Amino acid sequence: MRFTTVCLLSFLFLFSCTNKTQVLTGNTAKAKNIILLIGDGMGLAQVSTSYYFGTEPSQFSRFKHIGLHINTPVGAKITDSASGATAFSTGYKSYNAAIGVDGDTTSRETILEWADKRGMANGVVSTSTVTHATPASFYAHVKHRNLHEEIAEQFVNSVVDYTAGGGAKYFENRSDNKNYLDTLKSKGVTVGRELPKTSTLIPGQRYTYLLAPDSMPSARWGQRGDFLPKATKQAIDFLSKNDKGFFLMVEGSQIDWGGHANDDWYIVSEVRDFNRVLKEAMDFAEKDGNTLVVVTADHETGGYALSAAEVFGKRDYRAIKPTFSTGGHTASLIPVFAYGPGAEAFMGVYQNNDIFGKMKQAFGLK
Ligand code: MG
Ligand code: ZN
Repeated sequence: MRFTTVCLLSFLFLFSCTNKTQVLTGNTAKAKNIILLIGDGMGLAQVSTSYYFGTEPSQFSRFKHIGLHINTPVGAKITDSASGATAFSTGYKSYNAAIGVDGDTTSRETILEWADKRGMANGVVSTSTVTHATPASFYAHVKHRNLHEEIAEQFVNSVVDYTAGGGAKYFENRSDNKNYLDTLKSKGVTVGRELPKTSTLIPGQRYTYLLAPDSMPSARWGQRGDFLPKATKQAIDFLSKNDKGFFLMVEGSQIDWGGHANDDWYIVSEVRDFNRVLKEAMDFAEKDGNTLVVVTADHETGGYALSAAEVFGKRDYRAIKPTFSTGGHTASLIPVFAYGPGAEAFMGVYQNNDIFGKMKQAFGLK
């Protein structure tokens, strides 16, 4: 009996030691900062357009650690952007339309809130309204993505340091006649209708830039200018002044809208714009050396394919004529590109909500 007990104890001891060693050796380099870039609706065909239809070199080639995520939500086979972003931000798979809540509608701490508690700075940038599903999932907790006014109210009381995007109407043109832009100002937050010309943002202060009443214009005909790469750079310049590091999420929101519209030119233009965002993030990360950059999407939109052109009913493999199989989202696995400390963990095939744990692990904490 006694021998058995000793054996069992030593087995448990060995087992726990082995486990600890794995944890330690598996994550030696820590990331001080994380930049998460989400191309909404950006599947592999959308990424591929940066090689076939790009006007500048594709930035995806700068990533060596690449994986795939499975994006099934709770209660369905195909995810929307709310449950997709909530999986990344909280580590919980949830139902479609869920914002920062799990499958039981329980609020779950987001990676942004988690970083804030540790004294890190944070930012959220998007080309949709800042109350839209993807950005909202990083700072708000509501049962349904359509509750824009409630999300705006939660934004005012959130810990977001830097925001740029659209959606001013949900703050100042509300059904309850409240003006939450005034509330933000009274809390000492700098509120702007355009990005400031100079980068003189003061560490520790909060900045909210709402450049449009609703979504930002599309990138198709250049109406949006260089808003997204410029806001990304400004956010990085500002947030990197924090000694404890930062978490930044930037969304190329409208790649998804090009997919819904089955509009190839819309997708190509938005991916070109998003490619410039990748350049800003990677230029900073390469110089900094302590920054993990993760690029992915919540799901694919459009069943987009880079098909062969057809001339008089015959396939012509010399030219690409993109096609679509749906006006909605698809269940396709989604590529994940990672660079920097902790990037190795993003290789392989895993669930979308594992990205939360991988980011936390890269920060060096459980
Ligand atoms: Mg989105
Ligand atoms: Zn969509």
